[in-house]
Amino acid sequence: GRSIHQIQSGQVIVDICSVVKELVENGLDAGATSIEVRFKNHGLDSIEVQDNGEGIAPDDYETIALKHYTSKLSSYDDLSSLQTFGFRGEALSSLCALSNFSITTARAVDGPKGTKLDFEVSGKLKGTSVIASQKGTTVTVESLFNNLPVRRRELERNIKREYGKVLGLLHAYACVSASVRFSVSNQMPKGKKVVAFSTKANPTTRDNIANIYGAKTLLALVPLELKFEMDPSARPTKSAKNWSTQEDGESRGVEILGHISRPVIGEGRQTPDRQMFFVNSRPCALPQVSKAFNEVYKSYNVTQSPFIFADLKIDTNAYDVNVSPDKRTILLHDQTTLLEKLKSSL
Ligand code: ADP
Ligand code: MG
Repeated sequence: GRSIHQIQSGQVIVDICSVVKELVENGLDAGATSIEVRFKNHGLDSIEVQDNGEGIAPDDYETIALKHYTSKLSSYDDLSSLQTFGFRGEALSSLCALSNFSITTARAVDGPKGTKLDFEVSGKLKGTSVIASQKGTTVTVESLFNNLPVRRRELERNIKREYGKVLGLLHAYACVSASVRFSVSNQMPKGKKVVAFSTKANPTTRDNIANIYGAKTLLALVPLELKFEMDPSARPTKSAKNWSTQEDGESRGVEILGHISRPVIGEGRQTPDRQMFFVNSRPCALPQVSKAFNEVYKSYNVTQSPFIFADLKIDTNAYDVNVSPDKRTILLHDQTTLLEKLKSSL
């Protein structure tokens, strides 16, 4: 039968997108300036994420994949001012339960040598071996869901659509992560390695958009810069720097920063039909916000929905990322006001 650990893990890791999201975020949390994602057979055979971050300390080898182990929080209070993506210590332990999982890691002090870590299904360290490695961490996930036959068959059946979603997610991380270079490739069982996309070293968001969506897309964009207060009765604080946060920490303002395509009235598609939303630089789906933008464009007789790169800068108390185990759903506490303000200020 299935263990409770497997069932819970299946709630954190629901598809290839969740694997990629967790591993890329771990790389970013580790301070990487370069992240390489390699798929085999669109991820069905293997998903590998390599970063050039700080690496894992030998003291952590034993604990790293155990359930609820995390190095990212020192006290519960930190949760409200969360700066890192991770904090639950569930990703690696879940991946051990759901795949053939291994890690290779090296720190700056390790020289050209690294350590390969193999784990048991429970997340317990099975063994280590020394191998050649650059500084950073490579996580390999093979045969995802092989021990959950129904989930595995579903993944195989929908792999084309899933791979499209995965690339969309990686585009979003690559665009928003200024100063981090991304490179993504796929290799089919008898085929050549095909580069899906790759960005430059030390990029800006504009470089990344040009690289991924073409220079033409960039030409069609104008800066998106909206700023409004959430509470109509609230008065501006004295400090301009902390204008979005009241002394007592209660949410007050929202900034929406990024790039949006110029409204084009009439026929002709000028930019890719692509919208990326972020909350404090964290990629997330915001269907209601997207709808609000589209409605405003429509109301001016713009036939094409806009290309959008929009990062919502919101006080961390004003939303909740903990609503689903896979952390994909973000709950904005005062979404109604936000949508109204957005529509009227666009
Ligand atoms: P979380 O990210 O919530 O802490 P994870 O299960 O994703 O939990 O990772 C567990 C721990 O493993 C992290 O807290 C971190 O210490 C370490 N870790 C995971 N991935 C990396 C990486 N790419 N580079 C360095 N350390 C890592
Ligand atoms: Mg993590």
